[in-house]
Amino acid sequence: RLVVDPGPGVVVRVAVDAPQHSGLTGPLDYASEQVLAPGSLVRAPLGKRELLGIVWPGESAPPEVELRAVAAVFDALPPLGAAWCRMLDFAAGYYQRSVGELASAVLPPQLRELSPEQLAARLRKLERKVAKGPAAAEPVRPELAPEQAGAVARITAQLEAGAAKPLLLFGVTGSGKTEVYLRAAEAALAAGRQVLVLVPEINLTPQLEARFTERFAALLPEPLAIVSLHSALTPAQRLQNWLAAHLGRARLVLGTRLAVFASLPDLGLIVVDEEHDPSYKQQDGARYSARDLAVWRAHDLKVPVVLGSATPSLESWQHAESGRYERLTLATRIGGGALPRVRLFDMKSLPPSPGVTTALTAPLLAALKERLDRGEQSLVFLNRRGYAPVLHCGECQWKSDCPHCSAWRVFHKRDRTLRCHHCGFTERVPRACPNCGNHDIAPIGRGTERLEEQLAEALPGARVLRIDADSTRRKGELEAQLQAVHDGEVDILVGTQMVTKGHDFRRIRFVAAVNPDGALFSSDFRAPERLFALLMQAAGRAGRDASGDGVSEMWVQTWHRDHALYQALARHDYERFARDQLAERRSASLPPFSHLALLRAEARTAEAAKAFLDEAAGLLQDEQVFVYPPVPHAVARVADVERMQMLVEAGQRSRLQAFLREWVPALLALKRQHKAVLRWAVDVDPLAI
Ligand code: ADP
Ligand code: ZN
Ligand code: ZN
Repeated sequence: RLVVDPGPGVVVRVAVDAPQHSGLTGPLDYASEQVLAPGSLVRAPLGKRELLGIVWPGESAPPEVELRAVAAVFDALPPLGAAWCRMLDFAAGYYQRSVGELASAVLPPQLRELSPEQLAARLRKLERKVAKGPAAAEPVRPELAPEQAGAVARITAQLEAGAAKPLLLFGVTGSGKTEVYLRAAEAALAAGRQVLVLVPEINLTPQLEARFTERFAALLPEPLAIVSLHSALTPAQRLQNWLAAHLGRARLVLGTRLAVFASLPDLGLIVVDEEHDPSYKQQDGARYSARDLAVWRAHDLKVPVVLGSATPSLESWQHAESGRYERLTLATRIGGGALPRVRLFDMKSLPPSPGVTTALTAPLLAALKERLDRGEQSLVFLNRRGYAPVLHCGECQWKSDCPHCSAWRVFHKRDRTLRCHHCGFTERVPRACPNCGNHDIAPIGRGTERLEEQLAEALPGARVLRIDADSTRRKGELEAQLQAVHDGEVDILVGTQMVTKGHDFRRIRFVAAVNPDGALFSSDFRAPERLFALLMQAAGRAGRDASGDGVSEMWVQTWHRDHALYQALARHDYERFARDQLAERRSASLPPFSHLALLRAEARTAEAAKAFLDEAAGLLQDEQVFVYPPVPHAVARVADVERMQMLVEAGQRSRLQAFLREWVPALLALKRQHKAVLRWAVDVDPLAI
């Protein structure tokens, strides 16, 4: 311990990841022998541990107690920039986390483990990576279509002017949005700026990285000039790529949501591809929206941000309607490929067959057979993996429930297991009903595994391939499977939403959604928006290559073909869908016409969680903020923990923020009295309700 007196020491503020229950939410004061620049990385003691810390901008008060000393300084590393610290300050305040917690969640995990000496060695290692081999040839760029050229011109105008409004690039699937990103990136790179491109799925990064690398091989020949940042990298790769960005060596960073926090000292352009995608919202820990932070960051730096989508989030669409965002529209597909014809197949038109429910209706099989005979590829989409969602005993009505969750365990036939998709609890499939001993237990419903099996049976000779989270567990499997599709080695692709996103399949001409109705009647007000985006995106996988003959088609099997959502889908009419939805949202005062936060509480009993929420509701009154009664989570129990939640709503974002600033510290104090509550968290702008 070191007593600070007027001697050579100084006081520095350091953001460290103090545990929530300690109540230490702001940066803490430490003693240091030398003056440390804001943004410097240090190691600092806290309790018995030593943590990674960041010297935080701002004044600290003269110490009243003896301060502990900073343990070590990462002096080989340039400090994080003022803009980076501003972003962290904003995000921590907005999402109600401490700066230290957020920083430790978004910095590469290895930074927490390495000593300053080890880190310095890594850097040095980075410097030794230099370009070898012949210079790459100048890239071949397609001539831009007029709409593309218009969009690129608006982005480059903003680059030169120091930005203005966020740009919503509204382009149908296959309209060449990626080419617009490439040209905009090229302009920013040529101006000596760094570019950040965000994508929703890790699976899409290799494909996009290849496209950017190919295009910029001549412009950016140095190793590590183009890097990716996502959670599937090894810790060493992630640190290396992060450092490359921080040191300004990486000029183009491609990544998933966590990349929005990359340190980019020369950042000049941000692209958010598929901006509507729910994956941009972090769903645990520090629950931030990378899309929203990208908009904030671009505004703060006065650089352009491009939000691209064929089905923008209703928040972004409303901003474009009200003029807060500038809309750039790409209405036509490149190469004249038509969007697929959408056929809404009415399940009610089938002759009734009691006791039989089949996703593979005779007309669908006939349509698939026709494509097969023509040598065309088809995609059958079902957003449910496994063989069947539940096993059932016809004698005693036993069902394969999970003993730890309020959910069924899914039957996976390939490895004969019952698996809970919520807590992971897995067992061998019982030979007989565990309740009554009956041997005749049967699967109900279907997942992709069963669909694959039924397709192979119904269409002998067809090469059927399934792609979902189960088929792609091992490294390299997804790449190999996608390649097989691209190479035409697959006739029918069966998959979950994993295959509907982003992939530039050239051979697919028929897409079927066999059972999409479920989301129409969900209690989550965003479910229709998600379903519409998913189906539009699935449709977008068909007919991307106009050279074949005949029309491409999207086949939707539904019991509700007159539903407004399907009617808009049939016309590829996102704008009409958005207008209907926004009118509904407005009359129900739902986002984007109101602002929400969710307080979640988890405990061993529902009563304990509810008691906490009830008291939380009474902590603070505000006439303009409405607190709803607590309700159970849609899956109330997971891994033997009961989950309750309570919605907080305000007409004004600033009003909600002011409320949370007072409420959250009071919740911290309240939790100390409620020892039975295991966890609580505030989710600002929650996506799933
Ligand atoms: P989106 O991202 O809007 O779905 P892509 O950017 O993937 O569309 O473009 C669809 C296809 O059209 C890609 O194969 C792309 O290489 C091609 N493409 C894009 N712009 C042009 C252009 N101006 N001329 C020729 N081909 C283009
Ligand atoms: Zn039974
Ligand atoms: Zn479970």
